[in-house]
Amino acid sequence: MKDIFDAKILCEKCNKPMIRKIVDKPGAALRAMKCETCKSIIYHPTDLEKYKQFNSLKGKTYNVKLRVVGNSHAISIPKEIISFIQEQGKMMDDMVRLCFDDMKRITLRFGDRKRWKE
Ligand SMILES: [Zn+2]
Repeated sequence: MKDIFDAKILCEKCNKPMIRKIVDKPGAALRAMKCETCKSIIYHPTDLEKYKQFNSLKGKTYNVKLRVVGNSHAISIPKEIISFIQEQGKMMDDMVRLCFDDMKRITLRFGDRKRWKE
């Protein structure tokens, strides 16, 4: 499928070709077109939409029940989080990395297992 950002985009103010950029935002990298003259930026509509969706989920607190499963305890991860991760085209592995990184916090990390080797 052809992407809108594959086309040459001219700055509406300067009428000069805009340059492809990746703009790093907290927790995401967005494709963008930037005018080097007036510095105006156009974000890729798909990336912008995903970023807005991410921000609405980010920092949201869920009350989930701790269940006993054998000798362990299990929680359910809300569907909207899993759906969002899957929509990003990230492989949902059946393995996640869990870290007890604070007395009151457990972190889960999804994604490529190869990247876990830090
Ligand atoms: Zn411009």
